[in-house]
Amino acid sequence: MDILKESIQYIKGVGPKRANLLNNIQIHTVKDLLYYFPRDYEMRKNLVSLNKINKSGKYLIKVIIKSNMEENKVRKGLKVYKCIGEDPTGKIRISFFNSPFLKNIFHKDREVYLYGEVKKSFSGLEITHPEYKFNEAEYTNHIMPIYNLTRGLNQNDLTKLTYKVIQEHINCVDEYIPECIRKEYRICDIKYALKNIHFPESIEKMKISKYRLVFEELLLLQLALFMVKNQISQGKGVVFKHEKQVDNFIDSLPFSLTKAQKNVVEEIKKDLESDKPMNRLVQGDVGSGKTVVALISLLEAVFNGYQGALMAPTEILAQQHYEGCIKLYEGLNVKVELLTGSTRPKNKERILDDLKKGNVDIVIGTHSLIQDKVEFKNLALVITDEQHRFGVNQRNVFAKKGINPNILVMTATPIPRTLALILYGDLDVSIIDELPPGRKEIKTYGSVEKDKAKVYEFIKKEIQKGRQAYVVAPLVEESETLDMNSATEIYDSIKEDYFKDYNVGLVHGKMKNKDKEEVMNKFKNGETHVLVATTVIEVGVNVPNASIMVIENSERFGLAQLHQLRGRVGRGEYQSYCILINNGKSPVARERVEIMTKTNDGFIIAEEDLKIRGPGEFFGTIQHGIPQLKMANLFRHMKILKLVQKKAEMIVKEDSFLESKKYEGLKKKITNEFGKFIENISL
Ligand code: ADP
Ligand code: MG
Repeated sequence: MDILKESIQYIKGVGPKRANLLNNIQIHTVKDLLYYFPRDYEMRKNLVSLNKINKSGKYLIKVIIKSNMEENKVRKGLKVYKCIGEDPTGKIRISFFNSPFLKNIFHKDREVYLYGEVKKSFSGLEITHPEYKFNEAEYTNHIMPIYNLTRGLNQNDLTKLTYKVIQEHINCVDEYIPECIRKEYRICDIKYALKNIHFPESIEKMKISKYRLVFEELLLLQLALFMVKNQISQGKGVVFKHEKQVDNFIDSLPFSLTKAQKNVVEEIKKDLESDKPMNRLVQGDVGSGKTVVALISLLEAVFNGYQGALMAPTEILAQQHYEGCIKLYEGLNVKVELLTGSTRPKNKERILDDLKKGNVDIVIGTHSLIQDKVEFKNLALVITDEQHRFGVNQRNVFAKKGINPNILVMTATPIPRTLALILYGDLDVSIIDELPPGRKEIKTYGSVEKDKAKVYEFIKKEIQKGRQAYVVAPLVEESETLDMNSATEIYDSIKEDYFKDYNVGLVHGKMKNKDKEEVMNKFKNGETHVLVATTVIEVGVNVPNASIMVIENSERFGLAQLHQLRGRVGRGEYQSYCILINNGKSPVARERVEIMTKTNDGFIIAEEDLKIRGPGEFFGTIQHGIPQLKMANLFRHMKILKLVQKKAEMIVKEDSFLESKKYEGLKKKITNEFGKFIENISL
């Protein structure tokens, strides 16, 4: 039996109630507990004798209880329990709050270890609500773990439980990194690492353990991604022939492509002309012109006689792509359809039928495209726009709609190349590192609530020049409804007041698609002067005449998001402005505003974002296809990451699917940890 896989309730003393609490922090099995790492440590000094305590502070002491517990009611709801402790050098008063059960364990003459805040005053020593242990063995560690908790679960209980599990079951953990790798990189073994990450005997040992766990986590992830990549590139894809008509299309565009766009189009063309299915990420800052690259690629598919599909994360964006597509493809005899959650059932039926029969060349849509019912005749190119809004899995479900189709994913999330390699390790990466000519730097300013009148005055001036503005409502929570409320409030107030002589629009995620469309169209054709919006406009929306982006309560947004939102302006020839109304007092919020005012460069902003928040937040929830990293920090551990990438590359070159004996453990671990993830991707 594999104890590690047993439910945490298997451990004595863990009943259903405690198990539930543990489940709240994602501890379901014994193994989960071992891998639930401390968020920090507390240094405990050595045991001190009472006469050595010269000033108040945290201490670990050992005393004999000299009196039975006395109960005092201080006021309603607060009872204090007191007794006296003694060691050979002195006395101390001990008190606890609301802990009647202690009466039964703090017996007179019993020896107890106490750890906590000791107060020294003229009346002697007092320790209040300390941690207590009766068994010395539990306290041989002077560096104690601090875990993230959940309501109802305390530090002491979790520490005790972890200690117990390590004592009893650490030997069941098998090593999975082969010895040759451990030797080469001087990595400790897993039992040592787990023991010393929870209860380090010294700082040095904790660091050694941490290094191992970071290395391991990055190695497993990187190997898993490389294996996926190998699997994907195994099958043969459709071979495209370059069509002259595509060049004609490029020549017919209202602008000429930037050098960066040309390079990327070239890279894509090469992929399409080879028999390996394309699997490429196009990364380009907001406004760098990714859409047209997608539209060019789709034509390659169509002119070769195949179908193509483009998936976007929001209905607004899908709609916009659809309209742009229709406009640019005018006169080309290409049949394009739009499929979203709010496509009328009857229309939907027809589109589905046409897709299956091959009467539709290109379909553009939202998540609706990956539903079961959607079938294609010969889908050979799938494109996801704003990939960071989708999971790896969704991308792959999408890809399965075709037979080894070419995959192109686009993202504006600018991340350093090394990070791109690990996050999108299964993809080749192209970068559009240039904006179309004539773009002006978006001037960005910080402001505060009380100066809002000035901000609105400024908007009016721009409107008089013919421009338009966005006012983005604060993100209240991860909840569309609450965000909608705040947007509605702002809309109601400015419509009646500052902007009563102008046309004000409102758009949020809870609106019907038809209404959204109408509002967006009015904004696009310039009828609406000010558009109040939630973050539904965060990605992709393109209205070049809009020149002002006001973000209310900007402290509620992360840097990456602020940058995305700002990217909605500065998309045309006009000088554009972004005003961040920051009502937060936190240094982080202020720092963000400062960074935003200093630079327009997405790469710099991404780096800063990683520094401030750590990639867990930056990518973690968004990249839901990729398991959350527990120990590694892609920014802080960049050096280890580079080492790991090199090694992982060597390993898969030598043995693509880790089939040799020495990689047995690694392979098993990867399958266990990433099995689902790999399964979803493999073709
Ligand atoms: P993003 O990369 O953020 O998706 P878009 O594809 O929406 O950017 O492009 C932003 C704007 O730039 C659009 O109005 C588009 O028509 C325009 N654009 C794209 N490429 C060029 C170019 N080479 N020259 C001029 N304008 C361009
Ligand atoms: Mg875009």
